[in-house]
Amino acid sequence: MRERLACAAAVLLVLAGVAACSPAAQPVAAQPVAAKPVAAQPAASKPAPEQSSAPAQGQAPTAAVTIGVVSTQKVAGAEIAEAEPVGGATILQFPEPAGPGARKRGTHPTVIFHGSRSRKEIALTFDSNMTDAMLRRLADGKVKSYANAAVVDELQKSHTPATFFLAGKWVEAYPQLTRRIAADPEFEMASHSWAHEGFRGKCYGLGTIGRADMAADVERSFQVLGRYTDHPTRFFRFPGGCYDAAALDAVAPVGCTVVEYDDVSGDAFGNNPARITADTVKNARPGSIAVLHITEANAPETAIALPAIIKRLRGAGYRLVTLGDLLA
Ligand SMILES: [Zn+2]
Repeated sequence: MRERLACAAAVLLVLAGVAACSPAAQPVAAQPVAAKPVAAQPAASKPAPEQSSAPAQGQAPTAAVTIGVVSTQKVAGAEIAEAEPVGGATILQFPEPAGPGARKRGTHPTVIFHGSRSRKEIALTFDSNMTDAMLRRLADGKVKSYANAAVVDELQKSHTPATFFLAGKWVEAYPQLTRRIAADPEFEMASHSWAHEGFRGKCYGLGTIGRADMAADVERSFQVLGRYTDHPTRFFRFPGGCYDAAALDAVAPVGCTVVEYDDVSGDAFGNNPARITADTVKNARPGSIAVLHITEANAPETAIALPAIIKRLRGAGYRLVTLGDLLA
């Protein structure tokens, strides 16, 4: 899988105790979530599908998913309350989601790797992530910033539409940059989970979220994004791009489209902007979804590589579009 290339460098750095797109050298602290009524189920060990999962048409809603806690805020008319030891909110009862990528709650998500190969369009996507370990590094002053505003500068300067997959904890750490992204009609915001934990085992050293918590984690991230944007999407990218059939089942109540990528920029821990540019351009095909990052300390050269990426892709006749447009 290409995601492995994306994070290959990161793995080495994780071993060295450095946060990556697979960040935590130490396990991420448990979410402040009440005891779950649902016993953890063993994760399926099937490999992630290489192409679109078989989205069961007319599949019955997943009725048995009782979620744990997400938060106590009121969002879009839905009260998301602390879960009781027994019972608790059920995401399937929340209002149906809207926007590009939205699917009826309970529908098995489709997994998208690229758009139509017959249109010369490319979607540039930018991931953020934030874990408790990263927050500690910020607090300790070991890391100055995980938010690369220069990437947004370059995109706006060149009027380049883009889609941002933001982790909820990152949004809370960087509300100003989030607001700036939300305010630009050429940008879209999508979910990169709440806590950026692995949705299957062995995901670049990320802590693993329990199956029973998966839907709540993703729903929570969408709820947070919904506070910022008036043009929400329902696109979701798994942390590290890691998932399996069980994870897809688990997030079905969210009603989203899962988005992977087919153009790996290699910007995570990349220290050679020319190489990042060359790889992004080399991997680009009609309909491609390119993955880059706005996590400054973990992808320090992205903004430097970006002008040449944009210029060369446009020079090759590609139209740069949001994911919503690419998949429309
Ligand atoms: Zn990530």
